[in-house]
Amino acid sequence: MKNFRWLCCLILVCGSLLSFTEIVDAATYWQYGCQNRTIQVRSYDSSYNAGWVRAIDNARAAWNNSGAGTTILTWYNSNNTIQAAQFAENWYGLFTVNSASGSYITQFTIKLNARTISRDASNFDNFLKSTAAHEFGHAYFLDDNPPSGPSLMSHSRDRNTLTTPQAVDVHNVLSKYMGSLG
Ligand SMILES: [Zn+2]
Repeated sequence: MKNFRWLCCLILVCGSLLSFTEIVDAATYWQYGCQNRTIQVRSYDSSYNAGWVRAIDNARAAWNNSGAGTTILTWYNSNNTIQAAQFAENWYGLFTVNSASGSYITQFTIKLNARTISRDASNFDNFLKSTAAHEFGHAYFLDDNPPSGPSLMSHSRDRNTLTTPQAVDVHNVLSKYMGSLG
């Protein structure tokens, strides 16, 4: 039984302390990612209200139009799921590897926390889009808080305004899947 770890996208309640920890922990790549840049998630359009569906659609579109060669599709029978609910924990989003083959993710779950997002967003659509898009980034080997930025994977980004993969994120995905870009 593999001991999968999960990535948690923490709220910066204890700003300075957490920021210090994140700088120390900053890395470009996570140990897990999907083998291919075309991935599927289970259809969610009948599970959530229109605002949530639109924001998650926009998060997929942000990756699909990013130039990173990534395509996130929906399929009714996909094992990869997105779960939105009022979770008691303090994260906005959570990416869990349910199973993997070596470093390749074979099943993942993305959780989106309606409680914290609704509580803290000033632009709800953007905040949710940013959160969902960040979690998709983990499916492409991207770790939290890369050394250079601005980045969709940074915990300190403004989720109300930074909602799409940034140049460093696109570069990092291309480098991971295409090899060195020189
Ligand atoms: Zn994260």
